[in-house]
Amino acid sequence: MSYNIAIDGPAGAGKSTIAKKVAKEKGFIYVDTGAMYRAMALYMLEKNVDLADTVAIAKMCENADISIKYEDGVQCVYLNGTNVNDKIRTPDVSAAASKTSVVPEVRVKLVQLQQELAAKENVVMDGRDICTKVLPNADVKVFLTASVAVRAKRRYDELCAKGTECDLKEIEKEIAERDHRDMTRTESPLVQAEDATLVDSSAMTIDEVAEKIMSLCK
Ligand code: C5P
Repeated sequence: MSYNIAIDGPAGAGKSTIAKKVAKEKGFIYVDTGAMYRAMALYMLEKNVDLADTVAIAKMCENADISIKYEDGVQCVYLNGTNVNDKIRTPDVSAAASKTSVVPEVRVKLVQLQQELAAKENVVMDGRDICTKVLPNADVKVFLTASVAVRAKRRYDELCAKGTECDLKEIEKEIAERDHRDMTRTESPLVQAEDATLVDSSAMTIDEVAEKIMSLCK
């Protein structure tokens, strides 16, 4: 039996940073499920699919072969045979992912891939529906959040550090819109599972959050 740590939360709560750190400390594999939804969104953008047309998205997703490989410990997402890691982190793909991820056919396909991975490996998996839907029997379940203002500032600092010009208010608006879409959708909305531990990272350091999660594993 594999050991599974599930972390859900809104955009920018620090899930991936924390999940990577915990995975490294425990020698587990980190599974970033958002990257899979991003790869699917990239496919729809490349094929010029109307993102409001859920029927077209449902049909087109059959042709998107998404898989995960680990190269030097880094998760690489492959879309129809091509590593798309470098293409999925743009604001356009972020917005598109939260639109295409509402389509049940997209979710069924990606959830299956996620469950297969977690069944054979010890994983730290992050996303929106991991505790509620993908791994309801996970050994540790966490809902990681932070205020919109804190999350927007963190994203802003990240982008500035990369030399990308950006506007804090604009980022705050994008995050709030994405939260709203993710929380109000009918299919697997972002919600704290009843048995998940709430961790608000607004006033916590990365190390403190990681320690908190490690302590839940004991
Ligand atoms: O986590 P990340 O920001 O990369 O996720 C991009 C989008 O993918 C989210 O806004 C959400 O709409 C979708 N997603 C999802 N379920 C997951 C992970 C991500 O619906 N488990």
